[in-house]
Amino acid sequence: MSRQAKLLQVLNEEIVACRKCPRLVEYRERVAREKRFAYRDWTYWGKPVPGFGDPCAQLLIVGLAPGAHGSNRTGRNFTGDRSGVFLYQALYDAGFANQPNAVSRDDGLRLTNLYIAAAVRCAPPDNKPLPSEILNCRGYLERDIDILQPRAVLALGKIAWDVFMGVLKHRGAIPARVAHRFAHGAEVDIPEARLRLFGVYHPSQQNTQTGLLTPAMYAKVLGRVRRFLEQEPRLKVEFTEKGKKMLTRRRRGR
Ligand code: SF4
Repeated sequence: MSRQAKLLQVLNEEIVACRKCPRLVEYRERVAREKRFAYRDWTYWGKPVPGFGDPCAQLLIVGLAPGAHGSNRTGRNFTGDRSGVFLYQALYDAGFANQPNAVSRDDGLRLTNLYIAAAVRCAPPDNKPLPSEILNCRGYLERDIDILQPRAVLALGKIAWDVFMGVLKHRGAIPARVAHRFAHGAEVDIPEARLRLFGVYHPSQQNTQTGLLTPAMYAKVLGRVRRFLEQEPRLKVEFTEKGKKMLTRRRRGR
């Protein structure tokens, strides 16, 4: 097992055991007990959903949060709901996944050069985490970034984009969160973090069923991500002084 794989395993064990957000703990466990009728024979996961994918990935996808009857049921990101049907088909078409469908943790799905995490790891009521819950969970995303050191990040939706911007600001990589605004197809180099950030609409049922988001729109952005990873050398830029100090403090546990 590679060093990254071991570090991600340790991190994911910590995530799965997390109970920092009382409202989300109560909700995820209640949903798991009560279940949706169609899934009455399932044993729901009912815990925080860890990251999933290739430990050596150059691309990190940041989603919003688990779906109550999707990831909160199956235990794997975007697995078992309509968002996943759309997303994994797109990832398969772009060459990041070995199959276009995701129904359970043992369905054989493998990701290549891609790791999927989320801004919030527990299913929130109405898919709306509170700012305090986003803040509680942000440290896990930061650790994913530290371990993977991705060259490209794809934010699924405005909340994921803003959370990632918050991480960059916290690290001194950008002066303010509003420096780069979210849009579908947005693409911005963050030299201080040595990565390129891409944005797409979240593949929610609401977006895909209303036609706001189409497979062609995802194919276009994923194609740009692919070309970037294949062609561009790693951006060679140092962290700012503020970013360096923050990283040093974090590594010393202060
Ligand atoms: S949302 Fe994140 S911080 Fe809150 S309980 Fe779940 S895993 Fe822990």
